[in-house]
Amino acid sequence: MITKLKAKKVQYTNPIFNQMTGEEIKEYQFKLLKKQLKYAYRNSVFYKARFDEIGVRPEDIKTFDDYYKLPVFINKTIERETQKESMERYGHPFGLHLCSSPDEVVFTGTTSGTSGNPTFTYTFTEPDINFLNRYIAHMLDYGGIQAGERLLFSHSLGIYATSSILWGIRSHGVLPIDVDVRAGSKMILEYAKMTKPTAAMMTPSLAEHLIDKAPEQIGMEVGELGLQAIFTVGEIGVGVPEIKKKIEEAYGCRIYDYLGELGFSCDSDEYHGIHCVAPDLSLFPNDLIDPETKQPIEIYDGVVGELIATEFNLKALPRIRYSSGDIVQVFTNECPGCGFTGKRVKFIGRSDDMLIIKGANVYPSAIKRVISNFIPEITGELRIVLNNPPPRVVPPLLVKLEHGGITDSKKLEDLEKRIKSALHNEVRVTPHIIWCEPGTLEKALTKTPIFEANY
Ligand SMILES: [Zn+2]
Repeated sequence: MITKLKAKKVQYTNPIFNQMTGEEIKEYQFKLLKKQLKYAYRNSVFYKARFDEIGVRPEDIKTFDDYYKLPVFINKTIERETQKESMERYGHPFGLHLCSSPDEVVFTGTTSGTSGNPTFTYTFTEPDINFLNRYIAHMLDYGGIQAGERLLFSHSLGIYATSSILWGIRSHGVLPIDVDVRAGSKMILEYAKMTKPTAAMMTPSLAEHLIDKAPEQIGMEVGELGLQAIFTVGEIGVGVPEIKKKIEEAYGCRIYDYLGELGFSCDSDEYHGIHCVAPDLSLFPNDLIDPETKQPIEIYDGVVGELIATEFNLKALPRIRYSSGDIVQVFTNECPGCGFTGKRVKFIGRSDDMLIIKGANVYPSAIKRVISNFIPEITGELRIVLNNPPPRVVPPLLVKLEHGGITDSKKLEDLEKRIKSALHNEVRVTPHIIWCEPGTLEKALTKTPIFEANY
């Protein structure tokens, strides 16, 4: 355990915000919002059509409340359709919401496309890239990584969104050692051994996987690689205390969770969420809607809602009232770990996974997170058994869990009690647990299904 009395305070990337009150930041953001709406209206066929459809013009938006009341403009499905249309009409794949000329695009990155065709959501002009780079540099600097050092970068490379981070790493004077994750753990570890990076970027599950692989594949423990910081993205792993602790202890360094340029978690033993350091890049996380009614909800400490994204200052494909389907919890109080005074966010789940039990919204990933705290007494594999189509579930919620090889029925009973009480306290669900032998719930190579549908 890396024990520190108080974590180094996270600052906003743009230092002007460090002197501002929350109200002043809001005013500043409103100016950026107005500017961006006008820009998008003038320069994109798609955004102009969305405004015209509802009979609103950007200059009619006088307050944030006016803005939050607007319907969602775009989501993944609409994005795919508009990409098809722009290809047919103009011969480019970026969609009719493109606000720049396609000739000005210097980077395009897709999401990995787990469902449907990939979307080119991360499409940037050169000024966009230069603007975004400062957020990555700021995060590396916070993690103690300086110019002249090397960083092991192991994601899917090329057309994927994460590759845009490489520009930010280089802009900070740090050399990325970019080994495509598809090359496999042996090659990743060999390059780490050869080049002695001080930092690494990868998913938490890869960081975990390498802990087991290093001794047999390169003859050393990951702790001997000399990493001083690991930056992870894309999974909730770091939010699970057991996983954060396991990775930090094995590597002997801090793990930082980050969300692209929008923010990162602080240098604290406990996980306190993504610190939102970029009020000049995005409205994130101020625009939340109720995942069921789609009505705007007010922000207060601990509120949970579906995220609507709006980006400022970007020229190519700024997201405007973009629904990603992510459900987040927002914290507005000062970070207990580092004292950051801005907002913090924890990811709770996806709106398409949401269940409704006795009128309360329940997210499978929240259940998974609570359950992960009981590893190794359980394996961590679980299935939620649905006897009727979601989201409504008639209680009790049925959860299949693999125990970790417990043969004593008294011990299993005791474990069940503790798991139920943790789920009751943290997710307000008291499930019926169906115990399974370890290794009996099938594990998919890509994305293991969380639901078992019996309808
Ligand atoms: Zn903090």
